[in-house]
Amino acid sequence: MKYEDLKKAYNDNPLVFNGALLAVFTHGSNALARPDAPVRFQVSGNIIDADMQRKMLDLACELSMVSFNDLMAFVHNDASFHFSKEFAPGLDEEGVCPVCGASVEYSGENKIDDEGGSFPWTCPECGATGREGYVRAFDRHYDVEDKDGNAIEGRPD
Ligand SMILES: [Zn+2]
Repeated sequence: MKYEDLKKAYNDNPLVFNGALLAVFTHGSNALARPDAPVRFQVSGNIIDADMQRKMLDLACELSMVSFNDLMAFVHNDASFHFSKEFAPGLDEEGVCPVCGASVEYSGENKIDDEGGSFPWTCPECGATGREGYVRAFDRHYDVEDKDGNAIEGRPD
């Protein structure tokens, strides 16, 4: 499973992805990765139907072939997991008023510089105001050309 497969699996169904990831972390890659080893666990609970359980198990087996480092890098960079309030009380969340928890509305002048940017907001519920700060994050290299100005073969557009 390569990066693009991981991304597709996540985008197709984040719930299945999360369940599969939980299965990998709970049961361990080795238990899932051996082709001769029957899968000896079930995704249980009555919220998730049998079809989705099957999908979770299938994806869990595929995820078990991805290195732990690559899995963690994917979770860090591409998946939208949020800390629970119990685990990280007081941690600010994007788009959420830190005073009352309502969704903020962005207004006013955005400031962008070399380091990142900040975006002013107003809370429509409690009237609080503030600025949301972003640091610059690497995505990838775009428009890469050789010294003669030709596109490099094999790179994405
Ligand atoms: Zn508020």
